[in-house]
Amino acid sequence: MGRKKNGLELYLHIPFCIKKCDYCDFLSGPSTRAGQESYIYALLREIEAVSKLEKRPVDTVFIGGGTPSVPECDVMEKLLQGLQENFRFSPDAEITIEANPGTLTPQKLALYRKYGINRISIGLQSPKDEELKMLGRIHNYEQFLESYQMARAAGFSNLNIDLMFAIPGQSYEGWIENLRMVAELGPEHISAYSLIVEEGTPFSRRKLDLPDEDTEYRMYEDVAKVLGEYGYHQYEISNYAKENRECRHNEGYWQRKDYLGLGLGAASLTGNVRFTNTTDMQEYLEKSGTPELMRKDREFLTQEDEMAEFMFLGLRMTDGVSKTEFQEYFGTAVEKIYGEVLDKYKRQGMLVEKDDRIFLSRTGILVSNAVMADFLL
Ligand code: SF4
Repeated sequence: MGRKKNGLELYLHIPFCIKKCDYCDFLSGPSTRAGQESYIYALLREIEAVSKLEKRPVDTVFIGGGTPSVPECDVMEKLLQGLQENFRFSPDAEITIEANPGTLTPQKLALYRKYGINRISIGLQSPKDEELKMLGRIHNYEQFLESYQMARAAGFSNLNIDLMFAIPGQSYEGWIENLRMVAELGPEHISAYSLIVEEGTPFSRRKLDLPDEDTEYRMYEDVAKVLGEYGYHQYEISNYAKENRECRHNEGYWQRKDYLGLGLGAASLTGNVRFTNTTDMQEYLEKSGTPELMRKDREFLTQEDEMAEFMFLGLRMTDGVSKTEFQEYFGTAVEKIYGEVLDKYKRQGMLVEKDDRIFLSRTGILVSNAVMADFLL
């Protein structure tokens, strides 16, 4: 069975935040400078070990977290140097770092530029201070604007802003106003996710005044239309970009390109094997130099698993999946495997087939979870 030939995607996890936001269940938390240093050294040991076995050029890097803009310049420089020394990069590699307002400085931005970082994803969530406070964010809108302008002044011409909707107390009108405020700034990319109340977070223990389902549905439904007025197109369920500014790294996930996740709890897919690094910091610090010892949950995907992933990840993107690619990967026609499901959703107007592609219709996107679940074999 063939797979799409491609360079490599790297994800680097930086698990530090100034303080936990009240809705967050990501693997991250406050840290000391000494803790950051030992973690970055451990990450460098993992980088050295895995890069010895990896000859492909790196097409995209995503430094995520946590808040990768927390570590000071000297600590971060060691990591960025290590990356450059150990991997070979494609000439047009997309290298993204996530940053939070209140942690960026001109010095950090200059350092990122020096090491080839060419995209910044800024976690704003809301341009209203009362909403930011309620979410437990560390920053206000003014600090975000400072960070945004600082990034522009440092020469970054590819910026994403993360926004959140369906947050407690938010009305439909309030959300649309947030969207417009941010779109008017003109970032190249906007990600818009609804709040999910995760078990174990402070939000899960609080009585929250959440918008009802109908309002949440309308909030989502109108994002594409509103952002369309500002020159953005939706290219994935939660992602909107100006022309040619789609996030290539994330597109790689949805196209099932190989990626290596480095750092605490980071997940990887190589060939038909998925695995995840340990989420135990002590274990990571001790074993990162011998990655085999700290990788968990190794899963060998069967052809059926791969077909299902091909479909439900591919259908996240508005241009969906290619029938020819399916045939090339799996040596069989997509209709032969999924004929019934495809017919059912085409009849219901949820899926569209046009030329070589199968994709979700506008209605299909709005109920995408239900449609995708049907592709599990
Ligand atoms: S900044 Fe992001 S990763 Fe950190 S606690 Fe908040 S939501 Fe979680």
